[in-house]
Amino acid sequence: MSETLYIVVPCYNEEEVLPETSSRLKSKLLNLIDSNLVNADSKILFVDDGSSDRTWEIVEDLHAADKLFSGLKLARNRGHQNALLAGLMTAMTLSDVTISIDADLQDDIECFDEFLQKYHDGCDIVYGVRADRKSDSVFKRQSAQRYYRLMAALGVNVVYNHADYRLMSKRALEGLASFREVNLFLRGIVPLIGYKTDTVEYARGKRFAGESKYPLKKMLGFAWDGISSFSIRPIRFVVVLGFLVFTISLCLMVYSVVRNIIGQTVPGWSTLMISIWLIGGLQLLAMGIIGEYIGKIYSEIKDRPKYIVEKLLNK
Ligand code: UDP
Ligand code: MG
Repeated sequence: MSETLYIVVPCYNEEEVLPETSSRLKSKLLNLIDSNLVNADSKILFVDDGSSDRTWEIVEDLHAADKLFSGLKLARNRGHQNALLAGLMTAMTLSDVTISIDADLQDDIECFDEFLQKYHDGCDIVYGVRADRKSDSVFKRQSAQRYYRLMAALGVNVVYNHADYRLMSKRALEGLASFREVNLFLRGIVPLIGYKTDTVEYARGKRFAGESKYPLKKMLGFAWDGISSFSIRPIRFVVVLGFLVFTISLCLMVYSVVRNIIGQTVPGWSTLMISIWLIGGLQLLAMGIIGEYIGKIYSEIKDRPKYIVEKLLNK
C-alpha cells in the first residue's frame, strides 16, 4: 500500500505561472500515482499568501475542475516562510508525506521520484540541493555561496545550496510543529528535527514567467533573519570587540599620560577626532546588534500567530 502525498506550493501573486505550474504538477502527480509511488488520494495544495492578483480565483477554478487540486487561502500576506509553514501544517493532518516546492518550478520536479524512493528507503527528510546555479545571476549565485559559508562559520547548521525544496514525512512535520518560534527560518529549523535524512541533486532552472518575489531588500532581510535567529556569535563578536577596544584605550591612556609628563604633548586634534568617531561607531554597532536580538526576543515573547487561515478547499 502506498502513501498519500501532498505537494505544497506557496503562491504570492503568481497568476502568470499558475496555469503552467498546475498542469506540469498534475501530469507529474498522475505519473507518480500510476507508477504506484503514491496513492490516488494525493493532492497538490496551493497556498495563496494573500495575493492581490487573480491567484486565488485560479486556485478555486482548478479545485472546481479537478479534486487533485486543493487550495489554502491565508487571511493576508505573511511571507514565503509562513505561507509554506501554513501549507505544511495543513498537509500534515491530511497526508503521509509532503513535498514543498516554489510556484515558479525553478526546482526540477523530476526529482519527485528520487525523493519518494529515498522516503521509501526510510528517510524522513530529503533535501533538494542545487548542483549548479547557472540559471541564477552571478550576483545572486555569489552572494548565496558567501552566505552559506558565513552561516557555517557562525555555527548555523544549514544544508549547503538547499532552498525550501524538500520532502518531509508526517512525523518530521510533527517535529517541526513543536518548534514554537515566531522568527521563522525553515532552512535552519528543519535540520534540527533529526531522523534519517538524505539529499537529491538537481540543476536549478529559470523562473519561466512572472517576477521574483524576492527583491534584494527582502533577500537581505531574510539572510539576516537566518543568522540572528540561529546564532548568538555576532553578540559574542561585539563583546570581544568591546574588550579589545577597551584594552587599546587603556594603553593609549597610559601613553598620553606619559607623553604629558615628559612634556611632549602635541596638538592631538586628529587622534582625538579619530578615537571619538571610532568609539562612537563601535558603540552604535554594538548597540544595534544587541537591539536586533532584543527585537527578536520581543516578537518571540508576544507569540503572535504566524498565519491565519481564511479558507481551505480540500475534498
Ligand atoms: N512567496 C510567498 N509569499 C511572499 C513571497 C513569495 O508565498 O511574500 C512565494 C512565491 O510565490 C514563490 C516562492 O515564495 O512560490 C519563492 O519566490 P520567488 O520564486 O519569487 O523567489 P526566488 O526564486 O526569486 O528566490
Ligand atoms: Mg523562484
